[in-house]
Amino acid sequence: RAKQDGRGNFRFFEQSLDEAARRRRQIETDLRVAIRTGQLQLHFQPIVASDGEAIRGFEALLRWPHPERGFIPPVEFIPVAEETGLITQVGEWVMHEACRVATTWPEHVRVAVNVSPLQFRSQGFGSVVLQALSTSGLAPNRLEIEITESVFLEGETGVLQILHMLRALGVRVALDDFGTGYSSLSYLRSFPFDKIKIDRSFVTNVANDASAAAIVKAIVDLATALNMETTAEGVEDAGQHAELQAQGCSTLQGFLFSRPLDAVAAGQMVGSSKVKRAA
Ligand code: C2E
Ligand code: MG
Ligand code: MG
Ligand code: MG
Repeated sequence: RAKQDGRGNFRFFEQSLDEAARRRRQIETDLRVAIRTGQLQLHFQPIVASDGEAIRGFEALLRWPHPERGFIPPVEFIPVAEETGLITQVGEWVMHEACRVATTWPEHVRVAVNVSPLQFRSQGFGSVVLQALSTSGLAPNRLEIEITESVFLEGETGVLQILHMLRALGVRVALDDFGTGYSSLSYLRSFPFDKIKIDRSFVTNVANDASAAAIVKAIVDLATALNMETTAEGVEDAGQHAELQAQGCSTLQGFLFSRPLDAVAAGQMVGSSKVKRAA
């Protein structure tokens, strides 16, 4: 009986593997079409000063409204884009589009662009950044690249070279999802990042869990000592906002302030009177 159950489980397991593989293949096929026919869009989520009002920048986030299946979230299609190498093409489009849209904003407002490990390590990445800056005319210090520590997983050497090249261009570099990896601290020694983005998993409980609060405080103090800015990701309520502000976190991002917006809505938001010049 136990054996039978086991076999049943195994069959069920095989079926769900099959199902997952099928869905992946479907995403791959559809993603190729999406790239060719221009289905991908960029949305922009404000990053605000600790007062919760002055917009310092926007993070560009990919959106894929699939013609038959609705919005497919980035967590579902970006891994497929990475596995298939399609991320290089997608990432190039993102870089150009983000820089183009940013030129329509006031000069003190930056744009942050997520770059996946494979794209970051790809041969032409440096020239993609250069091209995007020169085509759009965006000042390099208005572009911020967001990478996660996973870009370092296959060794630091090539990565540091690219980081220094970006820095030489005047482009800013942020370390995204800080605290979720295995050895985040060691990467802070390898490169002087401009910014640390504190992962949402710490921010969620910052107002009601002493250890989450202590971790956030330690990250903010560390960043301050290293002369790096901080952004807290995923701020959803006033309690979190108050706590993060008290801890000296320099910038904030989350649904409390705004969801990611399409380019038109982002332009309206940044053009509204709420926007104050960065100090
Ligand atoms: P990320 O870079 O850490 O982006 C932040 C994610 O948190 C976004 O999810 C954003 O919509 C979400 N978020 C922002 N505020 C809140 C909040 O208050 N509460 C909650 N629950 N979530 C919030 P999204 O857009 O689904 O993107 C997920 C991930 O996909 C991103 O994480 C990033 O790693 C990746 N991604 C998105 N766009 C791109 C892109 O253009 N290129 C690359 N390589 N990766 C991208
Ligand atoms: Mg990001
Ligand atoms: Mg993040
Ligand atoms: Mg995150």
